[in-house]
This record gives sequence, C-alpha cells and structure tokens, in this order.
Amino acid sequence: MTAFASSPLPAATILGYPRIGRRRELKRAVEAFWKGAIDEAELRRTAAELRFATRARLVELGLPAEGGAVPESFSFYDQVLDATLALGAIPARFADVGAAGGSDLATYFALARGDESHQPLEMTKWFDTNYHYSVPEIDERTPFAANPALQLAQLAEAKDQGVESRPVLVGPVTYLLLAKAADGAAEGFAPIDRLDEVVAVYGELLAALAEAGAAWVQLDEPALVSDSLSVPRAEVLALVERAYARLSAGSGEGASSAARPRILLAAPYGDASSALLRLAALPVEAVHADLVRGALPDGAYDGALVASAFAGKQFVAGVVDGRNIWRTDLRAASDALQALRSAGVDVVVGTSNSLQHVPHDVEEETKLDARLRSWLAFADQKVGQVRVLAHGLEHGAEAIEAELAEADRVLADRAAAPGVRVDDVRTRVAKVADPDRRRAAEQDRRDAQRALGIPLLATTTIGSFPQTAEIRNARAAFTRGEIDRDAYDGFLRAEIERVIRLQEEIGLDVLVHGEAERNDMVQYFAEHLDGFAVTEHGWVQSYGTRATRPSILWGDVSRPAPITVEWSAYAQSLTEKPVKGMLTGPVTILAWSFVRDDQPLADTAAQVALALRDEIDDLVSAGISIVQVDEPALRELLPLDAERQPAYLDWSVGAFRLATGGAAPEVQIHTHLCYSEFGEIIDAVDGLDADVTSIEAARSRMDVVEPLGEHGYSRGIGPGVYDIHSPRVPSVAEQTELIRLAADRIPGEQLWVNPDCGLKTRGYEETVASLTNLVLAAAAVREPV
Ligand code: GLN
Ligand code: ZN
Repeated sequence: MTAFASSPLPAATILGYPRIGRRRELKRAVEAFWKGAIDEAELRRTAAELRFATRARLVELGLPAEGGAVPESFSFYDQVLDATLALGAIPARFADVGAAGGSDLATYFALARGDESHQPLEMTKWFDTNYHYSVPEIDERTPFAANPALQLAQLAEAKDQGVESRPVLVGPVTYLLLAKAADGAAEGFAPIDRLDEVVAVYGELLAALAEAGAAWVQLDEPALVSDSLSVPRAEVLALVERAYARLSAGSGEGASSAARPRILLAAPYGDASSALLRLAALPVEAVHADLVRGALPDGAYDGALVASAFAGKQFVAGVVDGRNIWRTDLRAASDALQALRSAGVDVVVGTSNSLQHVPHDVEEETKLDARLRSWLAFADQKVGQVRVLAHGLEHGAEAIEAELAEADRVLADRAAAPGVRVDDVRTRVAKVADPDRRRAAEQDRRDAQRALGIPLLATTTIGSFPQTAEIRNARAAFTRGEIDRDAYDGFLRAEIERVIRLQEEIGLDVLVHGEAERNDMVQYFAEHLDGFAVTEHGWVQSYGTRATRPSILWGDVSRPAPITVEWSAYAQSLTEKPVKGMLTGPVTILAWSFVRDDQPLADTAAQVALALRDEIDDLVSAGISIVQVDEPALRELLPLDAERQPAYLDWSVGAFRLATGGAAPEVQIHTHLCYSEFGEIIDAVDGLDADVTSIEAARSRMDVVEPLGEHGYSRGIGPGVYDIHSPRVPSVAEQTELIRLAADRIPGEQLWVNPDCGLKTRGYEETVASLTNLVLAAAAVREPV
C-alpha cells in the first residue's frame, strides 16, 4: 500500500501525448544512435529530457501534477513493441540478440528494424489510423516474464520531477488480438489462447508499478471497438471481462487489490457504447470511452442508467478529439459533461484517444493564415481545452462562460469564412448523378483499349522512381528560393527524360514519368488544390522515427489549374510507348490529411473526386491514354464498426468512380492498392471498376490472387512480383515463378507484371537490376523455351 493508492483521478486528463518531440528530437537522436553517432547512454539521456519536458509542459498547460492525471506515453519506437518488451515476449528467432530478457535497446531496435541476420517484426496499421505498430509474434512456447524496467524508470523520473504520473500500457486482450501466430506455431493456435498466462504477467507488472508508487495505470483496450479482429466483438468483451476480473484481484494467490495501482481501462478509437455498461461493472476504478467517434448507451443522460452502472467508479469522458486538429465545440462538450455530472456520474474530462496522432503546438505555425490558425487546436491546445472543461465541471459551466463564448465565436467565424463554403463547388456536387459514376460496359472498354497495343503480361511500374538526394536537394533549393522556377522545372524535365530513357532501355511496356516533382503523394495535391493548407511543423508519427505532415483540408475543394498535366504530357512527348498519368485518389487524399469535421466525409470526398475528374479530362486531352488513380488508403479508412462499413464503402467507392467516371472507353484506368489484405473489401475493390488493379503480392507469394480469381474478378490485375521494401534484387527465376503462380490463379490475359509498389525509397542500382529481371521474367513466361 502506498501513500497515493486511494486518490481518485483529478477532473482533467489525456490518454497520451506526442512523443516525437516538438522539433522531432527523438527521431534525430534515435537515428543518430542507429548510425553510431551517439551511444546508448546519450540516447537515453535525450529521451529522459524529452519526457521531462513533456511532463513539465502538461502540468504547465493545466493537468494536475498529483493523482495520475499525467500519462507516461513515451516510446522509443512503438507502444505495442514496448508491451512486447514489458512481457518479455521476445520471439525465439531473436534469442541470440542482445542481453537476456531484452531490456537493452539493441534487442528493442532489432525487433523493430531487423538486422543482417533477422527480419524485423512485421508492421501494420494501428486500428483505423495511419500509425503502424510492430506486430508481436506469439506461439505456444513464447516466454512471458514481467520486465517493467522502462515503466519503473519513468515513474522514478517523474517522482523526482514532482509529478505523480500514470504509466500507460496496451492492455492484454488488445495485445494478443493484435499479435500474429509465429511461423511454426501449431495449426489452429491463436495468440489469444495464451490470455490467462499473459494476464498473470500483467498482474506482476502492475504489482511492480504499485510497489514503485504508481497510483494509477492506464490499460488501452481499443480491441473493444473493432469488428475487424479475429474474434467477434461480443467475444472481445467477454475476454476483457475475464482478463480484468483476474487482473483486478492483484497479483498472486489471494493478493489484495492494494497490490496493484488503480486501473483506468480505456476504450479509444471508436464506439464502445454497446459494451459500456458491462465495462462499468468490471472491478476496475475508472473506465474511458471515446465520445467523439462513439456515444453513450441510449438513455444514458436522462436515466439513472449510467450513474448506477458507474456507481463507485470514475468515467473518463473522451470528449476532446484526439484524431483531428479542430478546436472543440466546447459548449457541446460542456453540456454533455454537465449532463453526466447531473445524472450522478463521477466524470473526468479526457481525450477520445492518445494525442499522439496530432502535432504538438499550433503556435509554431507562424506562417499559417491567422484566421485558419485560430480555428485549430493541436495537442497543447487540446490539453488546454480539457483543462477548461474540467474547470467547468468543478465550478459549474458559468465559471467557463468566457471560454465557451469564445469557442462559439470561433466556430461561427469558421462557418462563415470565405472558402469554407464555395457555391460553385456545392452546386456542382449537388448535380452529381449516378451516370457520372458509371463508365462504358467492361467489354466495350476492352475492345476500345485494344488500340493501345498493350501486350499480354504487360510490364509496368507503380509510378515513382528513386527519389535521389539530388532530387531532394533541388526541391529544397527551390523551396528556399535559391533556384528559380525555370531552373527547377528544367531540372525536373531532365529527370523525367532520364527516367523515360531508362524505362525504354529496360524494355518496360507502359512507362511512368517517375514523380520526381512530388514531395509526397498527398501533400503534392494538397499544395495544388484550393481548400487545403500545409503546415511547417505539423509532424505526426507514422511509425518508429518516420513522421508525416498531414495537410489540413479546411474548405471546399476545387482545382484552380491543372496539376500534373505538364509533367505527364512532357513525358509522353518523349516516347512512342504509352505513359501512365499518375494521380492520388480521393479516399487516400482524405485519409492522409486532417479533414474538416463540419460535413460528412462523403461530401468532402465528392469535391476532391470532381477536381481529379477534371485533371483526368485534361490529361486525356493532352494525349495521355492511361491514368492510374492510387487508393492505398481504401482499406485503412474502413470503419472499425461493422455497422458503419456499408455506408463507407458506398461513398468511398463512389468517390473513386466519380473521379474516373468521365473517362472515355478507350482510356485505360488503373488503380493501385498498397496491401494485400483486402478480403473484407473485395466487393469494393471490384466495385472501383478500374481496368487494371495493382496490388502488393510478392511476400505472400501470390496468395492474394486466389480470392480475386474465386470472386470472378474479370479485369486486369497486377500482383507485385518484386518486393520493393528491401534493396534485395529478385532474380529472373524468382519473378518468373511468381508470375506462373499468379497465372495458375487467374487467367493469363488478365495479368500485368509490376513491382509491389512505387520505387521512391529504392536506389537506382537495385531498381535497374530488379526491373531488368522483371522484364526478362515476363518474356520468359510469354514465350516458354
Ligand atoms: N504512385 C505512387 C508511387 O509509386 C504509389 C505509392 C503508394 O501506393 N503508396 O509512389
Ligand atoms: Zn503501394
């Protein structure tokens, strides 16, 4: 029993905070460590300084230093990987790396990134975000042993700093449901089979935290809101009930609950309303729900329902959105909180999820239009909003009336600002009708496209060629004003010409211009469309040390001028072979930007689609006869909640079809999906009605082609035969075998031959060698010797 163990949570908290640093200090330090430029001690020192700064900042912004309001959400790389280390669940294939138990950073980063002799843990998207986690590998023999070193060090640091912080861990059920069965696990084994053992180790972790003086611990269980896991949602809830009943009993036989910190069980990223009353009945001290994407159970506010369910327990109401960058409608949030309070609920103000998905501080954006900036809230501003709402809870809404009025004023200003609603754009969207989303019949298109003269097993690439240091330097020089537009354009033209000649030499059938002009496949379009703004420091962790800077889609979207036409037309002028135009699709543009929250996504997607439709029209007029519209985020935005999926698939597929629906039958439309797990959305992939679809397939050895064949997919398909994720050069024999495997699963007339994805992260040497082999492999399958 410790001095803090009986304190309730204060009225304000957040589920987590960005950890990359305001100036991406963590990225720099970790990458310096990887290069050997700094040693482990220095990396640990930088990390400790960042954590110190974060706690100090959170307290300065108004989170109480006492009572566990400040979360410890730091990670060197990924929070799921941290849980793997805390559980000692090092896969056997890493047994020879680093110190036993894996508490050293060498083991940690070997798991994350691999090394000469180890493939890294797989990485995959974290729920419906653009954050990627390291997938745990579990089998029947994976060892489990509590290893709370990182969490204990942080608690001690915080204590020294005078902050009574709250350790955060991915919860046991979510951890196991996100894990995959290790290669070599017995047939039918699932990681979740080991729940009881893992819960026992969580019990030990919690005991160690309590021993070190932690008043609270936060366990994140977003599995509770997802219908996309290997077990149905009702079963997830039952597993959570089983796990937390055990966990709350404390560690070891007959232990009392004083042997663990108080537990905050969090259900971020979606709608937990159907589970909430049962979660409230669990023997934990606080439950969190996302009230932005989710809701309270029906009747919660007026009845005594929630109040009685939550008797003796705290409810963390996630009313401040951790997924976007808009200022909260404080009055609506305050009303909801007051209603809960009046109903008798012991309510704490929180965020919908960790703020790790938003940038640090909007005050840094000094170049952003001041009016737009006044509508925004990044992580620091959101903490401020939580604090204001908590003050209102404690002292009554009157006490924060000035802040509520200011929030009302900002919302009204935003609604009325020029560019937010543009009549021409809205009139055009309103006129969209079904025929706009329908192209000519498939057979007619096939006939019309014969004129393109595309051979059987046509070879092509996905769009980008290596982004060399030279390209990045030229772009940076242009951005800084060191070279003028003419010089930069001249550089890009020379680059395009080089890439075209190279593809001709290699012998590819359908060429690309190489995308040298693009910094990023979404930001490039955002910079050329009205309705978007880009930030200077708005970095968000994508995975590990990689961060992206999502654009802000704030107004009605339109295209002031053609975007890609000049480059594609120039490329086409250099060659007799067809050059594919290259666009990013509406869903992906939305998924990788911060999107306005004042209208349905479907409406915003339609606006983007119309802008792309005009771009395709202009490309075709300029002599381009093949256009690829990339939609790698189609699967990512699929709602976690099965009930919401049909509507999403309807508007997202509709937006793609609206973008491409104006293309004449002789124009060949391609799309590219970056992944191979589209079993769930196979109807939607078919529904895009693209003439050719390229997908990632090399690592799965063409497994993904099988469901398409069974589905009766009748148009072109380009399963990747070259895994571009590593510099390894696949041989002719290897790629030949993959093409043959694909041809066993789908008629050869439908097959295209291409790499898994774009080549922008590759070097030229391996790219040329791999593509040369790819062309030879296609030739070998066409004309067997
Ligand atoms: N056309 C893009 C490229 O080649 C596609 C990238 C992606 O799908 N992520 O880079
Ligand atoms: Zn891709």
